[in-house]
Amino acid sequence: MKKRWLILIPALLVLAACSTEAEQEITTMTTTSVTIEMAETDAVTTESTTSTTPTATATTTTNTTTTSTKKPTVQPGSASYAYDYPGIAPVLARVPADPYLICVNRNYHLPENYAPALKVCVESYPEKIQMEATAATQYKKMYDAAKADGAELIPYSGYRSNARQKTNFERLIQTNVDRGYSYTQAVNIAAQSILPPGCSEHAAGLAMDITSPGVWDTRVSFDTTKEFAWLTANAHEYGFIMRYPKDKIEITQITYEPWHWRYVGAGPATAMKASGQCLEEYLGLA
Ligand code: ZN
Repeated sequence: MKKRWLILIPALLVLAACSTEAEQEITTMTTTSVTIEMAETDAVTTESTTSTTPTATATTTTNTTTTSTKKPTVQPGSASYAYDYPGIAPVLARVPADPYLICVNRNYHLPENYAPALKVCVESYPEKIQMEATAATQYKKMYDAAKADGAELIPYSGYRSNARQKTNFERLIQTNVDRGYSYTQAVNIAAQSILPPGCSEHAAGLAMDITSPGVWDTRVSFDTTKEFAWLTANAHEYGFIMRYPKDKIEITQITYEPWHWRYVGAGPATAMKASGQCLEEYLGLA
């Protein structure tokens, strides 16, 4: 049972945004009235707009304790989603107190002005792949540890803007149309391997597609490499999880991607590894 809640929020809220380990940043945000689809028992969620560039926008939220289904109400023309694709109508993602646990997927999109502070992960590569600053720092630590063990975790694709995601997504839609699918089918198929703009962890700066010498691309065969074996054994210690495992496709709605690793922080990553849960399950969103 879902309800549409009209939430009126005072014009000015001071919200804290967690930054790197060393600093905390206070961001002043102007928030306007918003309409949010949420489960009946969910607590307050706010949509924030900001003109600054916080590491991650932490919105004051009370964790839900609902026992009812937590899948969002998905209907055409989701008011908060800025893009228009048939069958794609995500609702606004809740930004939890720990912003590294934000869940974006086909059902939940990032706040429109979500703007992570970015940092190059491994300076020695010419591509200068970036992630959100804390995630980038943790990636470098993980990279160095793997290198010391003889595994080279080559950063292939980290932060991507929504504009870039839109280009990639629509290119794949067109490819599917060219293969003979209807536009609606083409969108649906595309969304199983590239998330629509606004819905990608890459736009949050929290995901890295990792490759290795000899693969040099994002391929399923990455899961036969020593780099993948190293990640499987150790990535949780640095806060990373394999986000789209083979056995969770029904939940993530994304095909198996052994190369896509998501930063969530060491505590949650270790808990998820121990329980075998994917992010949606861990957060109670499955
Ligand atoms: Zn990815």
